[in-house]
Amino acid sequence: MARLVLKFGGTSVADIARIRNVARHVKREVDAGHEVAVVVSAMSGKTNELVGWCRDASALHDAREYDAVVASGEQVTAGLLAITLQDMGINARSWQGWQIPIRTDTAHGAARIQEIEGSDLIRRFADGQVAVIAGFQGLAPDNRIATLGRGGSDTSAVAIAAAIKADRCDIYTDVDGVYTTDPRVEPKARRMNRISFEEMLEMASLGAKVLQVRSVELAMVHKVRTFVRSSFEDPDAPGMGDFDNPPGTLICDEDDIVEQQVVTGIAYAKDEAQISLRRVEDQPGVAAAIFGPLADAGVNVDMIVQSISEDGTRTDMTFTVPASDLGKATALLDKAKGQMRYDAIQSEAGLTKVSVIGIGMRSHTGVAATAFKALAQRGINIRAITTSEIKISILIDGEFSELAVRTLHSVYGLDKG
Ligand code: ASP
Ligand code: MG
Repeated sequence: MARLVLKFGGTSVADIARIRNVARHVKREVDAGHEVAVVVSAMSGKTNELVGWCRDASALHDAREYDAVVASGEQVTAGLLAITLQDMGINARSWQGWQIPIRTDTAHGAARIQEIEGSDLIRRFADGQVAVIAGFQGLAPDNRIATLGRGGSDTSAVAIAAAIKADRCDIYTDVDGVYTTDPRVEPKARRMNRISFEEMLEMASLGAKVLQVRSVELAMVHKVRTFVRSSFEDPDAPGMGDFDNPPGTLICDEDDIVEQQVVTGIAYAKDEAQISLRRVEDQPGVAAAIFGPLADAGVNVDMIVQSISEDGTRTDMTFTVPASDLGKATALLDKAKGQMRYDAIQSEAGLTKVSVIGIGMRSHTGVAATAFKALAQRGINIRAITTSEIKISILIDGEFSELAVRTLHSVYGLDKG
């Protein structure tokens, strides 16, 4: 017997027929004798609709009331799944975030989980009850509902798994695992059997949208074995209930990966924008004067390249921001031109960041050179490069996104298996 958390995303609970299918997955695990907590998202499209209603009501709305509205999507699916399970003869009840409680901080709309009181859930497991928990929500210190940011029910699931010391957290979604790259761009992409927490964190941060980034961070910190698997397969197909080796991708400690590859995946993020400040004064404090106000304004600055100054007095500073933040960033930079001490500002949108990820890079040389050569052969110009121990990110023109992803995927042999 094991203790499991099963999480189902919006497309998996999109209507009553799908909720019934989800219930069959739950039943399979209950029948196998496991203790089960289920975490659900809102029906797909629901949260967008609720967010839209808040905006329509008032462009400048109270974040606490926004939370009261958008948390309702998960309340509905938790109740519906509990009803469906009961109808199948399973002892189940729904839980809202405040009932457990899942305690968060005060950042309404993007709250972080601080503590989960799991004892009530565990007590009821002993009575054979299945807990159906509304994801994405918790209780803030002001005694009001808080939501965890878009995609937050992944984080709810992992946090609950950590709190109740679950043996595994299964994230059921509309894809059957984590792929070496986006299969819509490269049909030869392969599903990985295993990926390390660190690599998955990079993949999620750099554009792979399977999991909320925060959920991977939590899984890594608490060492929650997390499976990404499909909810659309027949719940009773052979192997689906295999405890040690269910179909999907296991996100786990790197020590649990026997055959470590040098490069495990290629991620990409479109809609990046580049800003260059020309002839910035080359003096202590200038970078702080530029990036401090951007950070305060919530602009997410990514790659930063400072070129060497020609005469020792002036330099160029180039960096990227999400295209959606470009207007805000340039307005701010224009306004602060005096303090920031630069001559001119240039910007360009429509760029893509392609990233090569792999833990094996720590111990192998030449990985970056291989990427640069392959892109050069395709005539793809590199605008900026950043690296960490386990990733290389390359900024290119958006029109080359797909070609670059496919080129890198093949040059590291990822399509071969
Ligand atoms: N329903 C929320 C959203 O759409 C949370 C989630 O699905 O993870 O962002
Ligand atoms: Mg999601």
